[in-house]
Amino acid sequence: MKNYFVLAYYHFTHIEDPAKEVALHHAFFKGRDVKSRIYISPEGINGQMSAEMHDAEAYMEWLRANPAFKDIEFKIHHYHENVFPKLTVKVKKQLVAMDEPADLALTGEHLSAEKWKQMIASRDDNTLILDVRNDYEWRLGHFEGADLPTLEQFREFPSYARKLKEEKDLENTKVMMYCTGGIRCELYSALLKKEGFKNVFQLQGGVIKYGLEEGTKHWKGKLFVFDDRLAVPISEKETSEIISACHACETSCDVYYNCANMDCNELFLCCPNCIDNFKGCCSAACLAEEDRVRPYEKEGRPKPFRKMPKQRKEE
Ligand SMILES: [Zn+2]
Ligand SMILES: [Zn+2]
Repeated sequence: MKNYFVLAYYHFTHIEDPAKEVALHHAFFKGRDVKSRIYISPEGINGQMSAEMHDAEAYMEWLRANPAFKDIEFKIHHYHENVFPKLTVKVKKQLVAMDEPADLALTGEHLSAEKWKQMIASRDDNTLILDVRNDYEWRLGHFEGADLPTLEQFREFPSYARKLKEEKDLENTKVMMYCTGGIRCELYSALLKKEGFKNVFQLQGGVIKYGLEEGTKHWKGKLFVFDDRLAVPISEKETSEIISACHACETSCDVYYNCANMDCNELFLCCPNCIDNFKGCCSAACLAEEDRVRPYEKEGRPKPFRKMPKQRKEE
């Protein structure tokens, strides 16, 4: 039974007292079946949460009743259980970690999922479809023809933007930028414009909204998400082919694991055979450190290890 909602949402708005907003959230969630990762800062809110359907509906109504959040947009997936380990609502200095501040007034032009689809279909040599997610995200799935930059961490985006500026024609390059839910593009598109790119477009609501509204057209593979599901189809109605492979034997595969060696905790794609051979570890070396390895359960994929690797904390 898919009676849980998984919500993804963000909204930039001035919040006078983020700590108070956090306290109000905690009071509202009391006694409700909700798990979350919600961050509130003076510049707005960035939330991901799962909740039993009625609690999710009540929350959306409650949040929209606050004038600061009345225009907030929720993206909704359906699932059979909560997808976060606990209820986290926290004050954060920045909603998206980046080495330089971005001017949000400079953000790129937002495209609806429908417009985005048309623009991909009519793209030419001057169009740059830019995936601004981390490599472990786009490895699992991405838009066809997208540029897939390999950055250690996306907080390095400012230096990447400067490099791109050297390679591209600032006047004529049409940049189509996308990310999971749209929030990263708000900052990265502003940075590209600051570097002088004239035509910067961003996918409103990210891949999540695109999948819900337009399905799998022009998309390959699955979508990486920062919760227990790790990989989801972008459409709840259509399926998409697997484009990723097991890191050990290269069999086609789209299941991620966190290495069972707690000191490693590396995120890796692995097929059922290899995960069994290495007892949940990413390598023989990790498996060899017996006293650091969590017990391996053969049945089902274990929930991702609760301690997030460094990059994943920044979403
Ligand atoms: Zn394998
Ligand atoms: Zn490992």
